[in-house]
Amino acid sequence: MSRTQIVIHTVLMTIEIYEINIRFYNSIMSHWNDIVGHDWAVDMLSKAIELDRLVHAYLITGPSQVGKATLARTFAQALNCTSPEQVDRPCGVCRSCTLIGTGRHPDVFVVKGEQGRRGKRTLKIDQIRELQKALNLTAAEARYKVAILEGFDNANANASNAFLKTLEEPPSYAVLILTALDPDLLLPTVPSRCQRVALRPVQTDLIREELEKHMGVDKELSRKLAHLADGRIGWAIEAAKHPSLLVERSSRLALLHEALAKSRVGRFEMAAGLSRNPDDLMKLLRTWLSWWRDLAIVSIGGMQTTIAVNIDDAPTIQRLAVDWNTQEVVRSLRQTDEAIWQLEHNANTRLVVENLLLKYPLDQLANDLVQETATG
Ligand SMILES: [Zn+2]
Repeated sequence: MSRTQIVIHTVLMTIEIYEINIRFYNSIMSHWNDIVGHDWAVDMLSKAIELDRLVHAYLITGPSQVGKATLARTFAQALNCTSPEQVDRPCGVCRSCTLIGTGRHPDVFVVKGEQGRRGKRTLKIDQIRELQKALNLTAAEARYKVAILEGFDNANANASNAFLKTLEEPPSYAVLILTALDPDLLLPTVPSRCQRVALRPVQTDLIREELEKHMGVDKELSRKLAHLADGRIGWAIEAAKHPSLLVERSSRLALLHEALAKSRVGRFEMAAGLSRNPDDLMKLLRTWLSWWRDLAIVSIGGMQTTIAVNIDDAPTIQRLAVDWNTQEVVRSLRQTDEAIWQLEHNANTRLVVENLLLKYPLDQLANDLVQETATG
């Protein structure tokens, strides 16, 4: 890629805006067949209702925005739908389905952690106690009282321990649905008392098809969003509705390119700036992580390797896969992953970011370009 191409590419990445004309979902998804890419889970949960083989607690796990909350809500609707025929449940239109869909059903509780620094949520013991009180009262109108605990890996130790009591002896009319990124982050006694429903990232083709056929997103944008989503169908749908998400992602990647073009002093300054926005850091580093992963795959597999996620940055990824050796690339991938882990475990923000930026290799071509522009 020539220098002019790099400039044009970087500018496009930064200011990328797209025209879009989408038929949005008019209502919240409320049917089993609205759930994309998790057919086996739908099958399992719907059969459990149909054959009266429900257990008291389910644990839905999987990456963020893969569809855990949607599956939990649809399950709650199926449990309490008042449509006369079992096969029609959830119908999406009865009073029960509508109230659950809009989060207003008196017997269906959704509990999630409160947001704190670095975007981290914490589920606290007070929330669990309040839920327990509500669960102990008999249902006002529903067949089942349902508690959906979103992101149970955000529960602190006190909250987890308090909830164990409910998991061990739930009221007979209650169904507990927990969601979490990773069951390994939970107290082992929690997954052992739940039926596991482990969701996998949704296939790119299924996401593309959903955007194109059901949301009317044009072909090119559907393909792009499906790749960038990296299995997170929820992100793809959100990004189709809100173009700003795609712009934000592009600017996060532009920041990475800016860092890679800088030498040590520039990177120190940049680290200081980035550390001032700790709430955005996790999203930033996760975008960077997916970029390093793509680069590592091309670096290892050679130029013909398909780029899985960041397809819009293919020219730079392919150029750097040649310029840098595989070891450097894999090391940067690991270091980015480690930085995310450190930030999740409350390490000093500025030190983590500085350390990370200083270890990334230099993009010599982009650096030359910056120098040239500066000396004009
Ligand atoms: Zn219904």
